[in-house]
Amino acid sequence: MVRTPAAPPAAPPTRPPLAEQASRFVQLERDVWDRCRPQVRDAVQAALDALATAEATHARPICCGRPMRRHDRRPVQWLTWVGQVRARVTRYRCAGCGAERRPLLETLEVEPGQPSGWLARQLGLLGCVASYPLAAQLAGPLFGLTVNAMTVWRAVQRLGEAAAQHTEALGAYHADPRSAAPAVDGAGAPEAVVVAVDGCTLGMQVRPTRRRRTPGTSSSPLPSVTDGRFREVKTGVLLRPAARVETSPGRHALVRRVLVTCLGDADALFTRVWAQLREAGWLGPQTTVVVIGDGSEWIWHRATLFVRRCEILDFWHAMEYAWAYARLQFGEGARRAEHWTRRVAQDLKAGNVEAVISRLHTLHPRSPESRAALDMLIRYYTTHAARMQYDEYQRLGYGIGSGAVESAHKQVVHARLRQAGMRWSEIGARRLLALRLLLLNGDWGRTDQLRLVGVAA
Ligand SMILES: [Zn+2]
Repeated sequence: MVRTPAAPPAAPPTRPPLAEQASRFVQLERDVWDRCRPQVRDAVQAALDALATAEATHARPICCGRPMRRHDRRPVQWLTWVGQVRARVTRYRCAGCGAERRPLLETLEVEPGQPSGWLARQLGLLGCVASYPLAAQLAGPLFGLTVNAMTVWRAVQRLGEAAAQHTEALGAYHADPRSAAPAVDGAGAPEAVVVAVDGCTLGMQVRPTRRRRTPGTSSSPLPSVTDGRFREVKTGVLLRPAARVETSPGRHALVRRVLVTCLGDADALFTRVWAQLREAGWLGPQTTVVVIGDGSEWIWHRATLFVRRCEILDFWHAMEYAWAYARLQFGEGARRAEHWTRRVAQDLKAGNVEAVISRLHTLHPRSPESRAALDMLIRYYTTHAARMQYDEYQRLGYGIGSGAVESAHKQVVHARLRQAGMRWSEIGARRLLALRLLLLNGDWGRTDQLRLVGVAA
């Protein structure tokens, strides 16, 4: 078809207009906030002054068996969500060992010059959902503050380190048979709990350490990452089959799921799965743990951790092997390939894996490639046959696929850590993953109970 150029408009186009000013509601809210914000800042400052005064009247801290000496008293500044505040902070020094303490900073749990505890958590939250430069940009409209990406990065590191340490400690606690599980409200442990596990890759920095930049010097451009290494982020989704509700025919939504994640180490992942099941009160003596995974050895080796268990090979992984053969045998996009795999799927769902395997043995591959794919398919189904009783899993309501964990990868990892060109240090990824899990598990409020950890910038 030949395109004819559009006839020129009768009048020249007008530039699309923008409203002259913000809406009345926006103006009203902004006027009130602009008026009150300095008052709020003054109130925060006054409360801080009162605290500093009270602190100054406390007995001097004790070290080496005697009160420490008052060494100096210096003004310190912090950035809060309503602006800068300051206080004079007394430093004590021990005449015996030379140790120093600043009790006011210990009470406030903040170092000089750092964002206040509340602001640090907000910046941590922003850095948890957006790249550090974008998060710093968001702090402008949200808090009316100018912060740089480094400040956000530091908040994520300090909060993330605390979250990661807590997760690891909780894992170690529950791994000890002497540890008691916390009391949980509700009807007791469920009959069954599903643990879907899978891994996805994360691009890592090649350089083992971060480069330090000396102020005032410009560093050479970073070499491009050509031999980029990848690590596997292993994720588990824990859910109770009974808590799946059918929102519309065929569509299920979950009342609650718990995500668990770990960089690299399979043992650590299962330690965390175990700990989270115990924390949620989902692991009673009669609970069947339903492990859903692909053919990865690391999953099935560790699944033996659960005495009462049901192992399920993810149905879609099982079908991928059938498709690989069908494409080679019948050709890409061939109707016969579709018919053939549909029949395999039907038979598998009906629980006839043995019949499928017997039938596979009678096939005549037409090329060495399809022979190899068929052998692989037979081997895969034979190895996992006991994990392919799909009719029974459906009947018990366990589900047959690990779709939950694949969508978890997207939320936990892809949405924040796999954006274009992103490369992670081991420690940076570990901290950010720990924070994203708190957020996605609906536990962000717990960051109030985490103590910020000092980290080298
Ligand atoms: Zn001392």
